[in-house]
Amino acid sequence: MNYNINEKGYYGEFGGAFIPEMLYPNVEELRQNYLKIMTEPSFKAEFDQLLKDYVGRPSPLYFAKRLSEKYNTKIYLKREDLNHTGAHKINNTIGQILMAKRLGKNRIIAETGAGQHGVATATVCALMGIECIVYMGEIDIERQAPNVARMKMLGATVIPATSGSKTLKDATNEAIRDWINNPVDTYYIIGSVVGPHPYPDMVAKFQAIVSEEIKFQLKEKEDTENPDYVIACVGGGSNAAGAYYHYLNDKNVKLIAVEAAGLGVDSGESAATSVLGKEGIIHGSKTLLMQTKDGQITEPYSISAGLDYPGVGPMHAHLYKTGRAEFISITDDQAMKAGLELCQLEGIIPAIETSHALGVFEQKTFKPDDIVVVSLSGRGDKDLETYIKHFKL
Ligand SMILES: *Cc1c(COP(=O)(O)O)cnc(C)c1O
Repeated sequence: MNYNINEKGYYGEFGGAFIPEMLYPNVEELRQNYLKIMTEPSFKAEFDQLLKDYVGRPSPLYFAKRLSEKYNTKIYLKREDLNHTGAHKINNTIGQILMAKRLGKNRIIAETGAGQHGVATATVCALMGIECIVYMGEIDIERQAPNVARMKMLGATVIPATSGSKTLKDATNEAIRDWINNPVDTYYIIGSVVGPHPYPDMVAKFQAIVSEEIKFQLKEKEDTENPDYVIACVGGGSNAAGAYYHYLNDKNVKLIAVEAAGLGVDSGESAATSVLGKEGIIHGSKTLLMQTKDGQITEPYSISAGLDYPGVGPMHAHLYKTGRAEFISITDDQAMKAGLELCQLEGIIPAIETSHALGVFEQKTFKPDDIVVVSLSGRGDKDLETYIKHFKL
């Protein structure tokens, strides 16, 4: 069994590029060039340099002593929260802005839900002096005012999507419409391992730096490159894809994917795609998504904005279907409790997305000599309001 993408752009039965005819030239240009560009020495050198000096990589692999004592196992945290802009998303936007430049594009578009990907995109556009347009649902603009302000300060134009439910999927539709109308000069930066081929593979490869670092960092600390488990939360799946990447075909390393159960998997207010999803097409790829009997995408719910997505990327659909990764869903309450516990045991305030990954320790018992690496995908500054409300701080 191969867990990487095949030549046709599929992970098993998932993936592909299901796009309107008019988008074909844009996606095809990227498909034909992305691997060639990514392996050019000058591209690699510029990417590595920016990850080091601008993002602050390598991010530490931190042995969480008190958390390990509490759960009687060895827990390491991969500190993506310490990256510039506070999460793993910047690894991908740096890679894609360099890709856009190599393809001769001078205008960037992106869609954003909570605003995290919008901020990461606006950041790299400012860095490179390239025009940036971010589509965002009107309702999300109201809900996420600080991120809208950040994007504006960084010089981006934020355009409200006013159709449908006025949230992420409507913003995505607007971005796609823009791309169709501007096929020559515009590049579309997608924020996770989703979208038509080659996006899921390209984003996974940019995020793969995470497991590349885990390997040599763990070698130094434990004299082995391989942990027993890698745990990551899954919205679209990019931080998980990065943390799994170099372990995908090594069955000795067990992979755990954590989805947001929201108010509970059976509550109707959930984002646990693997449990609730069926095969279908979303954002140009065949994958698992939450939908009604007649194929309408259902609104997901999670306390965490970054996990509030009705699908998962095709790599994760394949990992689920083949059993390569174990999928666990964690409710709002379980996640919030686990997040607070990390604050109090380790002095680290995690993003609420990340808190879901930490919720696994109350659900599953590990052996005392297991080495468990958790992708600490982001920091919690952006979530303070939600923590305050939840805990009545
Ligand atoms: C966006 C985000 C996620 C979810 O996105 P993935 O593509 O699934 O990684 C998780 N954690 C943080 C901190 C995020 O900002």
